[in-house]
Amino acid sequence: MDTIAAISTALGEGAIGIVRLSGDQAISIGDKLFSGAKPLKEVPSHTIVYGHLAEDGEVIEESMVTVMRAPKTYTREDIIEINCHGGLVSVNRVLQAVLSHGARLAEPGEFTKRAFLNGRIDLSQAEGVMDLIRSKTDRAMNVAMRQVEGRLSNQIKRLRQEVLETVAAIEVNIDYPEYDAETITQDIIKEKMTPVLAEVESLLVTAKQGKVLREGLATAIIGRPNVGKSSLMNSLVHEAKAIVTDIPGTTRDTLEEYVNVRGVPLRLVDTAGIRETEDIVEKIGVERSRQALKDADLILLVLNSAEPLTIEDEALFDAVSGMDVVVIVNKTDQKKRIDMEKVHQLAANRPVVTTSLLFEEGIDQLEEAISGLFFDGGIESHDLTYVSNARHIGLLNQAKTRALEAIEATDMDVPVDLIQIDVTRTWELLGEIIGEDVQDSLIDQLFSQFCLGK
Ligand code: GDP
Ligand code: ZN
Repeated sequence: MDTIAAISTALGEGAIGIVRLSGDQAISIGDKLFSGAKPLKEVPSHTIVYGHLAEDGEVIEESMVTVMRAPKTYTREDIIEINCHGGLVSVNRVLQAVLSHGARLAEPGEFTKRAFLNGRIDLSQAEGVMDLIRSKTDRAMNVAMRQVEGRLSNQIKRLRQEVLETVAAIEVNIDYPEYDAETITQDIIKEKMTPVLAEVESLLVTAKQGKVLREGLATAIIGRPNVGKSSLMNSLVHEAKAIVTDIPGTTRDTLEEYVNVRGVPLRLVDTAGIRETEDIVEKIGVERSRQALKDADLILLVLNSAEPLTIEDEALFDAVSGMDVVVIVNKTDQKKRIDMEKVHQLAANRPVVTTSLLFEEGIDQLEEAISGLFFDGGIESHDLTYVSNARHIGLLNQAKTRALEAIEATDMDVPVDLIQIDVTRTWELLGEIIGEDVQDSLIDQLFSQFCLGK
């Protein structure tokens, strides 16, 4: 394969920029530019050497170059990483130099694609890398990290093995009916597929949290004018401990703002809209804003403790019925005029938090309530494998349907060779998650979503 090159650090960020090359010619191309104590081709693998980069006899800059020889590298090809002083200009200059000496500019995700094609990682690990690049909070990062480490793959592989044994058992039964044809009864299929189905379902249960961690929780702040929506927004943004800056190429809608509330990434939706139009209530009757509310995963409904509840407040509760809501009774520093009993009644069983945003009181409890909604019941456990990828979720759902159909068929006395079709399909669908039996086009499409240089 030809030698590819790309800038592998986020542009403009950090003091060091890295140009990474992978392929047969990586080291020889490096030697055309780099001069150190000895040529790169003579330095041991996995070492870093100091020297200068020069082009046409002119020194570009000082540099450290890491040399890693195949096969113990990310791509299983020879890799060199040229560390240069940051700044777009200098990193780009080095990239242009390696391109002019025979490297080809890598396509987005091509390094990871090579790692996959060379058998270094499987597809779900590759997707983990992609999620890692995009992850919004430390917790989301952990989920992605675990996927890179192969937790999901291992679980899927184990599941597949179980299904495969069932398939093999059925095959034997069909091909050699003269040998105890009754050994593999429908009961045995049922017995084997039931735990498989249960495990697929439990993976799907984590999918909601996984999606939230990966994409952020679409959150809408609603309330009458002047109750403190903008103040809430500001305090959430200021409290946020790790607002992950967007990496080039993953830029999101500018109307959204990310905050991290105890590991739950909130995507505050249409915040610009909330800032500018304070009359959200008036628009609540408008179909468009109803739709915006429907798309939200979480509603922060703000009330004013210093005023009695109004018809508008009650209309807001109606508008968000059935949704995840945290009710915030703000301005507790002022004389209370709101009927808290009524508030709790309207809130039904949803959390009600009292705050004085002006005096920064109650924000801890608010954060607690938000994270409690999404990490209840031990989800924080570090042992869980999250399924956070839309493609994986789709495949797991299909696998679940097939496994369920196989199990139901055994109850309806369907012939074993027909049930086998569902069992085999379950096995294939699970295989697609880790990239076994996946068509090339799908692979190309997946890897093209990566950042350049990864
Ligand atoms: P919005 O119209 O719902 O976005 O409300 P704002 O956040 O703009 O707040 C309206 C006014 O209420 C501003 O003057 C805020 O300073 C004030 N305010 C917000 N929170 C509190 C609070 O907890 N106590 C008091 N006394 N005033 C508050
Ligand atoms: Zn990107």
